[in-house]
Amino acid sequence: MQDKLFINGEWVAPENNATFPVINPATEEVFHNAPAGSANDVDKAVEAASAAFKSDWSKTTGKERAVYLRKMADGMERDLHKLTELEVKDNGKPYPEAQWDIEDAIGCFRYYANLAEELDGKCEVTELSDDRFKSEVRYSPVGVAALITPWNYPMLMASWKIAPAIAAGATCVLKPATVTPMTALEYGVYAQEADLPAGVLNIVTGLGSVIGDPLTQHPKVDKVAFTGSVPVGSRIMSMCAQEIKNVSLELGGKSPVIVFDDADIEGAVEWVMFGIFWNQGQVCSGTSRLLVQEGIRDKFLKRLKEETEKITIGDGMTEGTLLGPLVSESQLRGVLEFVDHGIATGVELLTGGRCDDFEKGYFMKPTIFLDPDVTDKLWAEEIFGPVLSVKSFKTEEEAIELANDSIFGLAAAVMSGSKERCSRVADAMRAGIIWVNCSQPTFTEAPWGGFKQSGIGRELGRWGLNNYLETKQVTEFISPEPWGWYMK
Ligand code: NAD
Repeated sequence: MQDKLFINGEWVAPENNATFPVINPATEEVFHNAPAGSANDVDKAVEAASAAFKSDWSKTTGKERAVYLRKMADGMERDLHKLTELEVKDNGKPYPEAQWDIEDAIGCFRYYANLAEELDGKCEVTELSDDRFKSEVRYSPVGVAALITPWNYPMLMASWKIAPAIAAGATCVLKPATVTPMTALEYGVYAQEADLPAGVLNIVTGLGSVIGDPLTQHPKVDKVAFTGSVPVGSRIMSMCAQEIKNVSLELGGKSPVIVFDDADIEGAVEWVMFGIFWNQGQVCSGTSRLLVQEGIRDKFLKRLKEETEKITIGDGMTEGTLLGPLVSESQLRGVLEFVDHGIATGVELLTGGRCDDFEKGYFMKPTIFLDPDVTDKLWAEEIFGPVLSVKSFKTEEEAIELANDSIFGLAAAVMSGSKERCSRVADAMRAGIIWVNCSQPTFTEAPWGGFKQSGIGRELGRWGLNNYLETKQVTEFISPEPWGWYMK
């Protein structure tokens, strides 16, 4: 386990050797003391990234950058089980989920290696309305990128940013979430093994409140790519407005899943569960609002309750665990405040709530509330835990209206046996990701991001690469005749 920051290609002790405790959420044991970076450490990291960008790095070919990305992926693949265990300890998620995350992160590096190669010689001729000129579009790396990630998929969320940034020829400083710093630090190991030039990737762990602002406000940072909560995203955006920094934001959600009468009930029950209980419901795109059509409501909820109560809760390292602890004590407290509010205000609890089965660990039960008011915080606010709220509807129009009635617009799901209806509803949903007869499957190749307060910009796919590229027009005067404006 790493106990130093990764700056300019080397492992560096943080200023004053400061550390902070890293806690296993299943046991509450402090299993490591991670390096706590300071504003000065951030400055060193940004200076290293800036110097690397000005060196030969920004002139490397995509083919050369692809080699680094593939070598990093190979190192991660070799260490798959070590990384998986570390992710489980740090975040709490069940081992198979953590393994899936790491495999996806490896796939992300390989995918962007391919896209890096495609960048070589990429230039698009633009048809102009004046044939005295010829114009083409070229792409340049954005410069120094600050990459700020959340704790729900620590290694995976970092891969969504590091891999396209390196593919584009940018340099970067990664600031992982405070509560889950461990696997993100491991990227330094793979960068060194791959001989990635010093300063291209720097990693500074520590408290967001201490190093967040110095990082995003550093004058040599050209781009801020942030994934996290709306309040922090909003702060970053307003602060970056001072220097007109390029900002992309992946924020929260309160995504709906609509189940129509003609859906396959068993299939829909499982996807609804996956949509809110996977990763302990700590998923930005989690479908936390269920809209079920009146005709199947009773039957659907009966099956949903039966299956939900079968979910095995436990330590992520224990075989068979399907729901691990929440990531931290404060996260559990925050989610239980929603549960207590629901119970205290008389919202019907179908199942779940607090879990007293363990002496230690931040565990709770998968929880379902019925029919909160549309203005109730159970229905309107992001809970970021395994808590589903359910309402019913009569018509398709009513379902769409209820689904879209949110400040968020990250994702939405629709379950129906009618392809036409699914397509119509997909068009009508105000969200960046629409799942049809499923919920949550995420692919590196497809764009990821939200409408409304769920964010600005898209990650993954070629859209994710564009986050780290500047678009440049190169326009040439090709007429044999002089311009003839002043000199007739
Ligand atoms: P958070 O906003 O509390 O923290 C995110 C990151 O920002 C952390 O690394 C944190 O240390 C850092 N940070 C804190 N203060 C900062 C500051 N002033 N300047 C810069 N950085 C600062 O979010 P979280 O609790 O880690 O993650 C949960 C949130 O992330 C949820 O709202 C969830 O919906 C969202 N999320 C969104 C996506 C997506 O793709 N849209 C994916 C995962 C999580």
